[in-house]
Amino acid sequence: MGANRVIYLAPMLRESHFFEDSFENLLRRAQEAVADLRYEDALTQVLHALKLAEDAGDDLQQSRAHAKHSRILSRLSLYAEAVSAAYSALRFAGNDPAQGADALGALGTANQTLTPPEGHFKHYDEMLAKARQAGDASLEASAVRGMCIANLMSHQKHFHEGRDKNDPAMLSHASEALRLALEALRISRDTGDERSAYLGQHLQVGALIASGDLAAARGVSEQMLVTSSATVWVAESGSDRAIALKHLGDLDMLDGRLDDAESRMTQALAICESHRDVRKAADCFTVLSDISERKGDYKAALEWQRRSFDAFMQFASASARAHASATAVREGAERARAFAALQQERADRLEHSNQELALEAKRHASAALQDALTGIANRRCLDTELAALMNDRRGRGRCSLALLDIDHFKWVNDTFLHTTGDKVLRRIGAVLRECSREKDVVARFGGEEFAVIFVDIDPLEVAGACDRIRRAIADVAWSEVQPDLTVTVSLGFAHFDEAGGDVDELVKVADGRLFQAKRAGRNRAVGP
Ligand code: GH3
Ligand code: MG
Ligand code: MG
Repeated sequence: MGANRVIYLAPMLRESHFFEDSFENLLRRAQEAVADLRYEDALTQVLHALKLAEDAGDDLQQSRAHAKHSRILSRLSLYAEAVSAAYSALRFAGNDPAQGADALGALGTANQTLTPPEGHFKHYDEMLAKARQAGDASLEASAVRGMCIANLMSHQKHFHEGRDKNDPAMLSHASEALRLALEALRISRDTGDERSAYLGQHLQVGALIASGDLAAARGVSEQMLVTSSATVWVAESGSDRAIALKHLGDLDMLDGRLDDAESRMTQALAICESHRDVRKAADCFTVLSDISERKGDYKAALEWQRRSFDAFMQFASASARAHASATAVREGAERARAFAALQQERADRLEHSNQELALEAKRHASAALQDALTGIANRRCLDTELAALMNDRRGRGRCSLALLDIDHFKWVNDTFLHTTGDKVLRRIGAVLRECSREKDVVARFGGEEFAVIFVDIDPLEVAGACDRIRRAIADVAWSEVQPDLTVTVSLGFAHFDEAGGDVDELVKVADGRLFQAKRAGRNRAVGP
């Protein structure tokens, strides 16, 4: 079965260039593709990884692949699908705390746009508990980062709701922000995780602005700019440096330093453009438009506004394209899967037919050598065995042939019916098998005559063996087959050595002695 599968699936796997790939390789390459913003490629890798994990029936691998899939879908703004992939990841994670944390992280990310911040904050909170249970510092850092982002988003939400900074919700939110900021900063001190430091600072800036301490906010924003310029960080999420600049620009605006704000925002814009982050660029355009408006340059403000609109449109169509290509990739993977299933089905069907054919061939082969009425070997089989044994010069010294003929069988047929005669033939076939050893050959010679080849036997024992057969047949409870029925047989036997290596001669000698047994009164065995 296994061999067939390999044969039929191999062409498909080779075609898709994933023949030699391990799960880890696929997942690693998916990660590399994400870092290079090659999302389509990332999806292809991760879906193949998923298929491998499914084929292997490995739950943890399936969970990891689903979590990675979910994160890529989130990057492509396919949030609803990202959530469902994250839930799959969570299901397959089972009781594994580290994998559970990973899945919850993916769920939090996927939910960032779909649910209110409190919703994904909860996922990250759970993730933090699991990460601590697993003793995994990097998952713990990731959970705290998620909580920071949730807090930032919740701040934004309150802000858009037009809440006052003295609103109880805003106040409790700000104290939560500070608590998280400290936690993130502690983690970054312990683990050197620059992202946590960045987010901690991000939260701090917000809390400081809310408390009116603009000078302190500016100090932390400047630290944030340094943190977000670290090389590791830039490679992972380069355009977030623009956020630090934007903070500083906002602070400049609050201080009324419009030129400084404009210069910061222009730098931020350059960063967004170099990282092809159209979404954040759109925000920069909006702020630049505000600045121009405040400066009274309405023409420039309108131009920035227009560019902001274009950037938003570009972002929308890019995510639509990403959506379309992600869908195409998934459809491709679905097709590959359906194809694999089809091939599997075909392989199974062929496998089944092969087994049927083999069985049929076996049936044919045994039919060719078996007597249909009695089920023992037929004449053809007997001839083959005789020839083979006779050719074995050393072995044939210990072989003998007995021919056996039913006494007065015509009478059996005539007195009872032919069907009774057939029953007698079958029963004798069975008795012969019972009386002989595994290595002996028992055959129907023709009509109501049988043959037994005694293989590897002391010639002196053959007379005894023949007599046991004769008695066994006479002792059958024939009256149970047919009232008043009695059956006896006569035998003639010869040793192979008597015939000088000639099968016909051997049969002739044995047949002669059978005739003698008949002449001597039947129900007996005659040998040399
Ligand atoms: P003897 O003791 O001399 O052997 O007497 P007999 O009546 O057995 O004589 P013979 O061996 O010549 O008998 C052969 C008979 O066996 C003829 C035939 O009707 C019967 N016979 C041969 N093949 C079959 C068979 O397949 N089924 C049945 N019912 N009878 C068969
Ligand atoms: Mg006969
Ligand atoms: Mg007979």
